[in-house]
Amino acid sequence: MRHPVHGSPVQVVRAAFAALEIAPVRLVQAAPIVASRPIGPSQRTYANSAALIETDLPPEALLAHLQQIERQFGRRGGGQRWRARPLDLDILLWSQGAFVAPGLVIPHPELAKRSFVLGPLACVAADWRHPITHLCIAHLKARLDRKRPGA
Ligand code: ADP
Ligand code: MG
Repeated sequence: MRHPVHGSPVQVVRAAFAALEIAPVRLVQAAPIVASRPIGPSQRTYANSAALIETDLPPEALLAHLQQIERQFGRRGGGQRWRARPLDLDILLWSQGAFVAPGLVIPHPELAKRSFVLGPLACVAADWRHPITHLCIAHLKARLDRKRPGA
């Protein structure tokens, strides 16, 4: 969604990167921000990106921190999963491999199916291997692009 202070979805993502530069997180590398063309009668647009971050927080504490940032951007808990929201911050990969707990699965389970995730992710982590399939991000992206050209 547009944000009353930050502005367009692209500007929201830019502001989110700034929030990821604040301790206990360090922003190592940000991928380009990819804006979608307006879709549907509402002409809704999206902006997606990926960031490589460093932190001493364990995974669940990091998720709580990211959810705190989402709330700062006006996202309210509850409601439907796919509802329009100003900001969605997900954990895609972790340097230690896989992590599974109630409410947190890493790598993100939808990772390999979403070109709007793999595109930006390939810019910051092309050589990272999926700990379960052992395929690198660039490979997963090429595979998805072959399956869904232009998606
Ligand atoms: P979306 O699937 O669109 O990101 P939400 O942001 O509402 O939807 O997330 C729904 C739930 O997904 C969160 O409450 C969180 O507990 C859970 N979740 C599981 N794995 C992850 C992950 N890797 N990153 C972020 N959230 C996750
Ligand atoms: Mg999310």
